[in-house]
Amino acid sequence: MTLLCERCCGPIHRSTEPLRLTWHRVPDERGGPARWLQSAVHALPCEEPDVGEWDTIRRGAAPAALRWAAERDDHR
Ligand SMILES: [Zn+2]
Repeated sequence: MTLLCERCCGPIHRSTEPLRLTWHRVPDERGGPARWLQSAVHALPCEEPDVGEWDTIRRGAAPAALRWAAERDDHR
């Protein structure tokens, strides 16, 4: 089972990375007994998320975004 870090949403590899487990009490909306859910976080500082090949310089340069901006640039 793969665990996801509650802080950075990255996977935690149980066999190679130290982790901390935390219990959270979740009240039942219908008045029943509360449930306890366990979550995990990296015990070491979280790493920067992998954003893949995306070049942040290109943000907003999508053709649809340029059309949208041009339609609102008529200053009427
Ligand atoms: Zn993390």
